[in-house]
Amino acid sequence: MTSPAPTFYFPAPRTQTYCSVCGTALTRRVPPEDNRMRDVCDQCGAIHYQNPRNVVGVVPIYGDRVLLCRRAIEPRYGKWTLPAGFMELGETTAQGAMRETQEEAGAQIELGKLYTIIDVPQAEQVHFFYLAKVTSSALYPGPESLEAAFFRLEDIPWNELSFRTVSSTLRHYVEDAQSGVFPIHHYDLPEPDSQ
Ligand SMILES: [Zn+2]
Repeated sequence: MTSPAPTFYFPAPRTQTYCSVCGTALTRRVPPEDNRMRDVCDQCGAIHYQNPRNVVGVVPIYGDRVLLCRRAIEPRYGKWTLPAGFMELGETTAQGAMRETQEEAGAQIELGKLYTIIDVPQAEQVHFFYLAKVTSSALYPGPESLEAAFFRLEDIPWNELSFRTVSSTLRHYVEDAQSGVFPIHHYDLPEPDSQ
């Protein structure tokens, strides 16, 4: 197989400047009985904790082919990706994965088992990919996708993939498809962004 795709999702800017409770400028310091730097409001006492974000997606399989979407948004505009995106408040990882598939590909799917869990501490994210069975060849890609298409495993555009989480998940899938056994894969992608 070929070289990994360049990177994963960019981390969001994490330090907020003003208190979202009272509007006072925040101080960056270690609060009492804590051991990490936090954004603290000296006016109202609010501590604005920041924690990793979840990205949820699917490996959508239609017969012997995998469904990929070509990104119409930055980062990685024009690159191919598995349907995936940031989890929304109030939904489960499974619901988020199905929602992203609907938004990005307009594909009908039956969600399968959780397949990869990828810690990406450098990007302050955890990624979850489910296996999924596509139940119709009809695709209706949304505004976040330039196009959506099915690829035979031997035709996956390895050098045109968007993120390492996507390329590593697909590499696991291609490897496991040889045996037909798809165990869960849990691993880290600790490398810093290379581009
Ligand atoms: Zn405040």
